[in-house]
Amino acid sequence: MNHVINAVCVKCGAEHEATPDLTTCRKCGGILDIRYDYDRIRRDIGPDALKKRTDLSMWRYREFLPVREDSLPNPATGKGSSVAALPRLRVGWSPFYRADRLAREIGLKTLYIKDDGINPTASLKDRASAMAVVKAAEAGAKTIACSSTGNAASSLAGNAAAAGFETYIFVPERAPKGKVAQLMMFGAHVISVKGSYEDTFRLSAEAIEEYGWYNRNAAINPYLMEGKKTVSFEIAEQLDFHMTDYVAVSVGDGCTIGGVWKGFKDLYNAGFIDRLPRLISVQAEGCCPINRAIAEGKDWEPMEENTIADSIAVGVPRNPDKALNAIRESNGVVVNVSDDEILAAMRLLGRTCGVFAEPAGATGTAGVRKAVETGLIEPDASVVSIVTGSGLKDVANAMKAAGEPLTIEPSMEVLRTHI
Ligand SMILES: *Cc1c(COP(=O)(O)O)cnc(C)c1O
Ligand SMILES: [Zn+2]
Repeated sequence: MNHVINAVCVKCGAEHEATPDLTTCRKCGGILDIRYDYDRIRRDIGPDALKKRTDLSMWRYREFLPVREDSLPNPATGKGSSVAALPRLRVGWSPFYRADRLAREIGLKTLYIKDDGINPTASLKDRASAMAVVKAAEAGAKTIACSSTGNAASSLAGNAAAAGFETYIFVPERAPKGKVAQLMMFGAHVISVKGSYEDTFRLSAEAIEEYGWYNRNAAINPYLMEGKKTVSFEIAEQLDFHMTDYVAVSVGDGCTIGGVWKGFKDLYNAGFIDRLPRLISVQAEGCCPINRAIAEGKDWEPMEENTIADSIAVGVPRNPDKALNAIRESNGVVVNVSDDEILAAMRLLGRTCGVFAEPAGATGTAGVRKAVETGLIEPDASVVSIVTGSGLKDVANAMKAAGEPLTIEPSMEVLRTHI
């Protein structure tokens, strides 16, 4: 951790030592942000040395990550502490595609798709959960717990299973079957809560307090976002450190967009990129408390959780401060999309790119399309759209988007009448 300075409260500015079991500010309960010594990073690693690394996972950016030096295997000797020796899933270095056909269809000059559905448990949340497992190991914990709309849960369960941790996981009853199936398969203790995500979160917080489990709740644990930011490191590296004008992502709790912004700012501060992209924050029309706050220039207020995009159906966001900061600081734009527009974007990603996204995974792309259509962004702009989760997680909505196949008798005669 010799590149980490400390953790600073985004609300009151109080500084905290970056211990592995850090949660929220001890003074005011605000969310903490990990601070780095960028001069030191700059001295230790530059873009050219980074490009030569052979570790094709999120850990290739070790100088920018808040883990102890010996928690990762030493690249030269392969050795480290017992934490480094823990088996782990290969998280990160997800595919990055230039999407010319999709760009043409939506009237945009340059579009890239970063497919984070191609992670071991099939969502971007693996980046946060992989970090949580390492920090839990550093803290000497045996059991990790979280509440989640689904993907944080399934990613924690999978990453913890690989490393040999026990997990307690709280999900709202509405979580799609694919995600719950993953939890059960990874051997988690699963508690399905009859209530909203808000109810689920509250129960998990009380249980974590009572049983002393390691806390992987979004926003409470400041290290999670440090894992999520690695998606931006990869995007920048995959663009050879020449950033696009915009980066689009879907927003629920706000940790992902906050992490995306932190990643780009880290690279900017360490001199790897010479300009920052503007963020496109995309939410569902039926649940858009963050975007509404930006659009109306007011504080955020709770909303109902009314969308098929379950991963971003978050009426009471857990990380509004960092999300709002990220959008404002980047001079970002906000777009809300309907469920029909999300389903259309799922079809479009599938048909033009061969990328299969869950509803929240395609929401960013739905937002890009709408932003071009409504003139919010210029047709000659360059954009990266992050696909945050795989469509295999939510087959019911995929069928809703794409329809049913042709079903016939096994006969050429019948087939000919259809082709
Ligand atoms: C969690 C999640 C998001 C949104 O991330 P937040 O940190 O909640 O804003 C978007 N898409 C998918 C697939 C997710 O799982
Ligand atoms: Zn504080």
